[in-house]
Amino acid sequence: MTEDLSQKVTAWRRDFHKHPELGFREFRTASKAAQVLEELGFTLHLGAKAMDPTVILDYPASLIAAAHDAAISNGGDPKLLPMMEGGLTAVIAELDTGRPGPTVAFRFDMDALPIQEECHGPHRPAAEGFASVTDGLMHACGHDGHAAIGLGLASQLAAHQDELKGRIRLIIQPAEEGAPGGAASIVARGWGDDIDYFIGCHLGLGVPTGKVVARAHLLATTKYRVTLRGRGAHVTYAPHDGRNALLAAATATLAMHSIPPHSHGWFSLNVGVLRAGDEQGVTPSHATMEVGVWSDTVEVHEYVKGRITDILEGVCASAGVELEIRHIGESPTSPQHEELGAIALEAASLVPGVVELEDEVQCRAADDAEVLLYRVTERGGKGIYLLIGSELVDGHHTPTFDFDESSLEMGTELLTNIALLISRRPWTE
Ligand SMILES: [Zn+2]
Repeated sequence: MTEDLSQKVTAWRRDFHKHPELGFREFRTASKAAQVLEELGFTLHLGAKAMDPTVILDYPASLIAAAHDAAISNGGDPKLLPMMEGGLTAVIAELDTGRPGPTVAFRFDMDALPIQEECHGPHRPAAEGFASVTDGLMHACGHDGHAAIGLGLASQLAAHQDELKGRIRLIIQPAEEGAPGGAASIVARGWGDDIDYFIGCHLGLGVPTGKVVARAHLLATTKYRVTLRGRGAHVTYAPHDGRNALLAAATATLAMHSIPPHSHGWFSLNVGVLRAGDEQGVTPSHATMEVGVWSDTVEVHEYVKGRITDILEGVCASAGVELEIRHIGESPTSPQHEELGAIALEAASLVPGVVELEDEVQCRAADDAEVLLYRVTERGGKGIYLLIGSELVDGHHTPTFDFDESSLEMGTELLTNIALLISRRPWTE
């Protein structure tokens, strides 16, 4: 990789870092990425062609519109932005070599987090002038780096087009953080149906610079929004007429946090939000809860999900409270392909600076790349989720998070090598 491209990748990362955007609001990031990809000769699929708008839940239109306007004044591409209106920020970019061969897809996320970045002291983005300029938002997970690696990969592949065959698909995905994730909206448009090789990746996650993990097994996750509707009553004149949604929600919370562990695997459950009631003198008539569960096997995940439903239904029935359970996010856990893992390890061994390889690890993290991975595997394709080692300053999702930028070049080289190695393999339909 040329020095010039290496500098460009770092510059892209720093530009995205300086202008963080939340899920389904990555207008500036997506339009800038799309602009680069188009200039490199990739065919773009944007807006409703890239993603199914009905899969975006509950995002207030006013927030999405405000982010769209901000992107226009912040240097987003004025030609491409109109196609992303309404939060349709996914970018699918394809390079068709015109030669028979597999469809190889790489997925990159690009969203930031609602975290106020540390803007003083030794925090490098602050010291070197690329800290977030948007109050309350920050790239604190490395997705700025992922998007930059995606553009570095695109540049490399465009330059090596004559060594490739088949079709390369880059999926720049919105909204990895939170629920619902953006991958489901992309799968709903069929972009996961015809992929022969799928590669998802993440920087860091405890893996040091110079190390690559070919197959990081992620957790299955389900996120719920639960609404309880009881009945308000005067708490001294007619407490017997009340149906207490707050108490039901609190009881269900304690019961869910008491679900016994399962001997076949690990899970973690969290009632992260509980809001209820209006004032002291009235029986609380309503409550909402947000619940997340993460598990390392399908069996354990199904067990916990079943118990959650049983508890909520049981508690609400006994309290006389109406119950509504909505699934607001779901990503499975999927087996990863050994042969593609071996290709990734070979690709990594050719990257300068990579000194340690590991085939498989179990990760205490979820990523909705699994939604794509699962779809690809279900349709007979091969998929992996790679970890690109990067020394971190502070943990993911903290105000002083930063990563070692030398991993950007290693990540770009690694993914380029994977595409080239796949192209060198014999291909029959
Ligand atoms: Zn992340």
